[in-house]
Amino acid sequence: MSIFGGIEAGGTKFVCAVGSSPYNLRAEASFPTTTPKETIGRAIAFFEEQQQKTPLAAIGIASFGPVDPNPQSPTYGYITSTPKPGWTNTDFMGTIKGALPDIPLGFDTDVNAAALGEYKWGAAQGLDVFIYLTIGTGIGGGYLVGGKPIHGAMHPEMGHIRLPRDPARDPFSGICPYHGDCMEGLASGPAIEKRWGQKGSALSPKHPAWDLEAEYLALALVNYTGIIMPQRIILGGGVMQQSHLFPMIQQQVQGLLNGYLQIPEILEDIDSYIVPPALGNKAGVLGAIALAQYSVRE
Ligand code: ADP
Ligand code: ZN
Repeated sequence: MSIFGGIEAGGTKFVCAVGSSPYNLRAEASFPTTTPKETIGRAIAFFEEQQQKTPLAAIGIASFGPVDPNPQSPTYGYITSTPKPGWTNTDFMGTIKGALPDIPLGFDTDVNAAALGEYKWGAAQGLDVFIYLTIGTGIGGGYLVGGKPIHGAMHPEMGHIRLPRDPARDPFSGICPYHGDCMEGLASGPAIEKRWGQKGSALSPKHPAWDLEAEYLALALVNYTGIIMPQRIILGGGVMQQSHLFPMIQQQVQGLLNGYLQIPEILEDIDSYIVPPALGNKAGVLGAIALAQYSVRE
């Protein structure tokens, strides 16, 4: 059986692992995201050590973004215009390739990788068209068709769509450095914290924050549904630890669609249309391992 490596590269921490599936994860290491040199260096050291035990068939890099996922581009495998200090224009994949030249690499966004992991082992098995959305420090989405992340000119940036905001109801003008009140600016974890002066995890389930949050997320999901008509939408990320949001979002989506879509996914099975990830806190690193596996199969 082939063994693969995976890097879940987040803006806060990196998680590296080797294995082949959720049932066979052999080693794992986690460390804070500091400078690119130090952090990517630690990932390389981890895989060099693992290589001594078992040769790795491929390594998948699942990175925070924006990234360049286009193999034809001169900056393929780079983290590009990130606002994260020190990380703009980082040749992530090239640095790994330089240190481990014989190992094939897969590279994509962290959300596309997590979506792949859910497709292989989790809540999207067997689905032809679905969306995986994460609501955390940022908001990002992956859109998979036939088990492949759709890239287009780059990769989707589903978190930066524009949503209607009623300033009388929500005077908070948002925190996105590019757009102010785009979806991420209004509904990410840091947006909740800034608007209400407390972290989301400290707000009671009865707090009005959650009605507003469910409304923004439902508006976005209705927009994605209209454009993509996914068979399922998976909602992950720290904010969705507030599991009471699921029924609120499901009801609002039905309300906003107002009976227009006569399909069982919306009318009868809304609780299996909008779902949490099945792989829990391992979704990220397992997604990176799935990315490694797909990179050698294509
Ligand atoms: P990241 O996006 O950095 O990979 P997370 O998905 O954990 O990490 O998202 C972190 C964000 O989610 C933070 O803004 C945090 O306040 C928020 N968050 C984490 N846990 C909870 C929770 N239980 N309830 C509400 N918000 C949470
Ligand atoms: Zn934005």
